[in-house]
Amino acid sequence: MEDIYCFAGNALDRVSARRNDTEWITALLADPATRLLALRDLKPLVRGPEKPALDWQPAASWRGQIEAGALLILLGIDDDGRAHFAIDASGASTAPDIDTELVDVRTLGPTIPTGEAAILAEARSLIDWHARHRFCAQCGSPTRVASAGWVRRCPDCRASHFPRTDPVVIMLAVRGDRALLGRNRQRPGGRFSCLAGFVEPGETPEEAVRREVHEEAGIRCGRVRYLAAQPWPFPSSLMMGFLAEALTEEITVDPEEIAEARWFHKDEMREMVARAATGPDDPTKVSLPAPIAIAHHICRRWATGLDSI
Ligand SMILES: [Zn+2]
Repeated sequence: MEDIYCFAGNALDRVSARRNDTEWITALLADPATRLLALRDLKPLVRGPEKPALDWQPAASWRGQIEAGALLILLGIDDDGRAHFAIDASGASTAPDIDTELVDVRTLGPTIPTGEAAILAEARSLIDWHARHRFCAQCGSPTRVASAGWVRRCPDCRASHFPRTDPVVIMLAVRGDRALLGRNRQRPGGRFSCLAGFVEPGETPEEAVRREVHEEAGIRCGRVRYLAAQPWPFPSSLMMGFLAEALTEEITVDPEEIAEARWFHKDEMREMVARAATGPDDPTKVSLPAPIAIAHHICRRWATGLDSI
């Protein structure tokens, strides 16, 4: 499964070994080629609206905010050697070049090039992480940003805190020509999707796949095959996609999480994939997530014979 999905395919060199080189970071900020993306309330500044594009600006335009201590993160260096930074402009009363608009990342992601969406995912997850981790989890003191936005350090107990990524398994349990989809409690209508859940401490992804399918639908799984992953920056999940070999057929749903689970034939799923790729849900029909979600591609690749368990 070699396709790249929305929010994957980040081409920046993250230069993690140089994040503590403050002289170099300062020089990057003075370089007119350096690009800076501002997010306000986790939404990026966007040029548009006909053909939306991330509104990368020169760092000089944001000098005032940077000097005032706005959160600044070195995202990485592109193939042309240009540094890319994100700045949190939440609360900033003025922004330079205000001929831009703010667009929600989930809406914007599928409309911009995949590599740009991936950089946006990196920026959104990191800014959100800083907002939620202002105090030391060990001693409760306020923490400070370090390493060009990649660490928060506690001045009192010396603890370092690192950005987190939460692994999620998302899987299609398959039995012959049929596969298992569930309908979420929170989502009304006919929208079905792959089952999914967080990997728990002390568990491998494959074990999480078997546990989640059993908990949510009562189905036992044998072999589990990894397909591909997708960063999901809401706020910081890593969606890991799998096919699983279902060993049993009788469904018992967990009513806390799943309103309904059903076996779908390959032919029916192919039709659902085609409908989801071309337009909004028809409320009179069963439907699948749009191509922004890896669930769509797991279903597509299995239903069209590109992947099998
Ligand atoms: Zn501390």
